[in-house]
Amino acid sequence: MQNSILTICYIIASVTFILGLKMLSHPATARRGNLIAAGGMLLAVLGTIFLYHDEAGNALHNYGWIFGGILIGAVVGVLAAKKVKMTAMPEMVSLFNGMGGACAMLISIVEFNHLMHAVPEKWTIYPPLSALGKSGAPFHIPIGELLIIVLGLIIGTISFTGSIIAWGKLNGRIKDFSFRGQHIFNILLLLIIVGLSVWLVCSSAEPVRFLLTVIFYSILLLSVVYGIFFVLPIGGADMPVVISLLNSFTGVAAACGGFLYNNKAMLTGGILVGAAGTLLTILMCKAMNRSLLNVLIGSFGGSAQSGTAATQGAYKEISISDAAVVMNYANKVFIVPGYGLAVAQAQHACHELEKILTDKGVDVKYAIHPVAGRMPGHMNVLLAEADVPYEQLLEMEQANEEFSTTDVVLVLGANDVVNPAAKTDPSSPIYGMPILDVQLAKTVIVNKRSMKPGYAGIENDLFFQPKTSMLFGDAKKVLQELIAEIKML
Ligand code: NDP
Repeated sequence: MQNSILTICYIIASVTFILGLKMLSHPATARRGNLIAAGGMLLAVLGTIFLYHDEAGNALHNYGWIFGGILIGAVVGVLAAKKVKMTAMPEMVSLFNGMGGACAMLISIVEFNHLMHAVPEKWTIYPPLSALGKSGAPFHIPIGELLIIVLGLIIGTISFTGSIIAWGKLNGRIKDFSFRGQHIFNILLLLIIVGLSVWLVCSSAEPVRFLLTVIFYSILLLSVVYGIFFVLPIGGADMPVVISLLNSFTGVAAACGGFLYNNKAMLTGGILVGAAGTLLTILMCKAMNRSLLNVLIGSFGGSAQSGTAATQGAYKEISISDAAVVMNYANKVFIVPGYGLAVAQAQHACHELEKILTDKGVDVKYAIHPVAGRMPGHMNVLLAEADVPYEQLLEMEQANEEFSTTDVVLVLGANDVVNPAAKTDPSSPIYGMPILDVQLAKTVIVNKRSMKPGYAGIENDLFFQPKTSMLFGDAKKVLQELIAEIKML
């Protein structure tokens, strides 16, 4: 009876995951979607703790450990989520994802040891064939179970160590690192891991505990090394794509756990995360016009420098009052937010400027590049925080159609996503990445603090074009001054 109620809990949880995921795709419903999915997960966890009974009818025990773990995890999670700055969000996502990978890895280790305990003692270190002859009854480890344990181990471990390296790279603690032939080294490492896994699974027919244990922990160790060397050489600007990929790995690893425990909620959740992560990875690659292989071996955004730097001429500056006049008397203004807006936490000031201009009869819209900022949807989240109506946010393709009829584009802390080198300079590391064609507008005002390059580490021709004027300063301060000026006009 209780197991039937538990099954119903899992079905409800699965449905809420799907609903939640659907709602996450729109900013207006995302918060509710998150809560609904979290509610489903809570139901599944509590149901498992209180309703689960094994075949012998035993309930779970170890409540002290279980609730101790939940308490520590909940406190750390809530504090981290509350304290995290918007700009550090990708790091946190990476760290949390790593925890998911670590869970899958630990599940595999625990379940492997369970299997090993089932191996007859006399087969601990000697080849079983001799033992077989004497004992008669053959002994087999369930091959399917072992296969899933090994899959969960490899994928979970790579996701764990890879995410930790990604976390370190995003917060600057770990630098890009690569050596000659690293990609070959990585491929060899992966081949050895696959080879050992095949050996392990094949050995399960006549299991020798010592041999299986050595192979298993070798796979674990090599997967740890692979996760590190897989992420280390990847260029900084590609980290979000990698995090999304690792996220899908964690989903698949969790789904392995679902198979192992015949747990439908874990299975559904894992498959959803795996599929969503894969789709997001593909979409992000498309947004940069690059293949996944290019992301994984391209080292984009590391120390790469564009060849355009030396060709720059002079740039011109604009004062706050002149910028205020230009925008005040424009018919149509586009705001292009970028990473700098998040750094300055200027989203509220930005919304205020937009409202004042709108009150003065200016048509104001936002142009959102899919990889502006440091995570997918960064700008959407940032502007939603300031209650900017979603209808005013135009996606890249729509905005690009409108720039030629726009009077002023105000670029706020964006750089790479408006860099024309992506279209004009085949030697540029961002060549081929779709960009916002702000240079099509009549006037472009760029706000940033200096002439320093953006995340990809390359110069931006836009700043030197005749129709572009630089408005230097911290985005929040500049916006506040602009608002004050426009109010006086
Ligand atoms: P960029 O990093 O290219 O440029 C941001 C600009 O903001 C900098 O040039 C900086 O110039 C300026 N800035 C920083 N702080 C402030 C401030 N307080 N006030 C005003 N300006 C400031 O950002 P983009 O959004 O244009 O492009 C995103 C880049 O990040 C792309 O290369 C993308 O591929 C990559 N990326 C994207 C991710 C995603 O999923 N969205 C994740 C990770 C990377 P200055 O120092 O002179 O002020």
